[in-house]
Amino acid sequence: MKRSQEETKLLIQSWLEDWGTFLGILNQWTVTIEFVSAKKLQKDSVAEIDWPPNYRKAIIHFNKSCLSQHWHTDEELEQSIVHELCHLLFADLWDTARKYLDGPIFDEFKNEIEKAIDIQAIILIRMRDAGQNKFKSNSSIRKSKKLAAKKEIISTNGIQIKLIENLPGV
Ligand SMILES: [Zn+2]
Repeated sequence: MKRSQEETKLLIQSWLEDWGTFLGILNQWTVTIEFVSAKKLQKDSVAEIDWPPNYRKAIIHFNKSCLSQHWHTDEELEQSIVHELCHLLFADLWDTARKYLDGPIFDEFKNEIEKAIDIQAIILIRMRDAGQNKFKSNSSIRKSKKLAAKKEIISTNGIQIKLIENLPGV
């Protein structure tokens, strides 16, 4: 059964609200999602997050082409939202690094923090799926799951996901 792009946007928005609340991010941050063309993002990126230093305001730039269902599974899309939100947990660390590091040292820092954030996002989702973590308000999660169940899942080869699958034991 085909889901419309508008429904997928709502699903993504509900992940943002549920995870943002659960992680305590939405108490401190205003986070909005903008659906943008792939050209505005780094190659193969599902989403990227930006925030101006010292302001608790962030924008997730979400790759519009990922709204079409044959590109990414719902699991991959949810994971990318959790990943982007986890960036905000370390926003101060990132801002400090950006202030004092540059060139290859900053690039190396960036790669390492991306890996750490991927691991964190996977663990959070696994905990949720294992039922060890209850969301305070999980009505929209239930709704999303229903939506997700309706769709045919076709696997894709998103770069982030490949990286994640190769992580040992996480
Ligand atoms: Zn990232």
